[in-house]
Amino acid sequence: MSALSPVLVDLKFNPEGVARALKTAFPDRGSINVADTVDRARDLRAVEYALLWKPDADLFSRAPNLKVIFSGGAGVDHIIGMAGLPDIPIVRFVDRSLTTRMTEWVVMQCLMHLRAQYAHDIKQRRREWAKLIAPEAAEVTVGVMGLGILGQDAVAKLKVMGFNVIGWSRTRKTIEGVETFDAGELDRFLAKTDILVGLLPLTPETTGFYDSGLFKKLRRDGALGQPVFINAGRGKSQIEADIVSAVGEGTLGGASLDVFEVEPLATDSPLWALENVFITPHDAAVSEENALFRHVETQIARFERGEPLQFVIDRAAGY
Ligand code: NDP
Repeated sequence: MSALSPVLVDLKFNPEGVARALKTAFPDRGSINVADTVDRARDLRAVEYALLWKPDADLFSRAPNLKVIFSGGAGVDHIIGMAGLPDIPIVRFVDRSLTTRMTEWVVMQCLMHLRAQYAHDIKQRRREWAKLIAPEAAEVTVGVMGLGILGQDAVAKLKVMGFNVIGWSRTRKTIEGVETFDAGELDRFLAKTDILVGLLPLTPETTGFYDSGLFKKLRRDGALGQPVFINAGRGKSQIEADIVSAVGEGTLGGASLDVFEVEPLATDSPLWALENVFITPHDAAVSEENALFRHVETQIARFERGEPLQFVIDRAAGY
C-alpha cells in the first residue's frame, strides 16, 4: 500500500495554537505546516489534501496534485478567487461549537441594542442613576439575512429570547414560526425589520450589499424607533462610510460589527468612536484548531472510503 498523503496546512491564524494542535492531529498520515520554517521548503507535489485560510499565492502551483481543499473557516471567499485554483471539491468548516459561539454573539448584540446598553455604559461612567425603559423582545423584529447553518441557529435562539424573528435567503426556507422571504422579496423583508442581522457569505452578489439605500428601507416606526445593523458575515459586504453616516444622521440607531472591509480595522476609522456602535475584532466565532483538524480527518476518511464529502461548496454560487 502506498504511503498516505500528509495534509498540507496553510492557516494564517493563531500559529501557536495551530502548531500545538498539529502535534496530535493526523497521526496516521502526518502534516506539512508551511508556516513552520522546517516545512516551508518541502516538496508539495505528492500532497493530496490542503487545509487553507488565506493561503500563499503560489500554493496551487507548488501542490499541483491536490484532490480536496478544506477551508479553515466557514467562509471560502479567501480561496475562491485565487489564481490557479484547481477544479476539485472545496469543503468548508461546519462545527457545532463555532455555530454556538456565533449565535451567542448575535443574541448578545441584539440584547445590547434592545436594552440600549451603550446608554447605560455612558451613565455608569458618569455615576448617574437613571432608569431606561426598553421595549420587550416580542415587540422587536429581528430580520436575519442568510438562513444557512449559522442563520438558522441564530433564528432558533433569538426566538427563545422572545424576539419576533423573520428571515431572508436566496432560496426560500421553511422554518416553523418564522416568516421567511426569498431574494426577490428583499424590500418587504427590510420594511418589517427593526434589527438586521447579516450572516451572509461574501460573493459577487453580496459585495457592497449593506449600504445607505438598504439601511433606509428598514422599519422606522417599530418599538426601537431607529433600526439597528448587525454584521458578522463578511466585512466587504458592508459600506463602512455609509454605516458611519447612517448612524450620524439617525438612519441607524446603532450597529454591531465583527467584520470589516479591511481587517484589522484601521485605527483612524471613525467607527471606533461611535458610542452606539459595538466593535469586535472578527472573533464572533473563531475556528478552534482541534475541532477543525477532527473535521478534516473525518472528511478525508469519508473520501477515502468512497463516501460523499460533506459541506462541499457550490462553485457557481460562490459559497
Ligand atoms: P451557509 O452557506 O450555511 O449559509 C449561507 C446563507 O446565505 C444561505 O441561507 C444562503 O441562501 C444565503 N445567501 C447566500 N448568498 C445569498 C444571496 N446573494 N442572497 C440571499 N441569500 C444568500 O453559511 P454559514 O451560515 O455557515 O456561514 C455564513 C457566513 O458567515 C460565512 O460564509 C462566513 O462568511 C461568515 N462567518 C463569519 C464568522 C465570524 O467569526 N465573523 C465565523 C463563521 C462564518 P440559500 O439558503 O438559498 O443557499
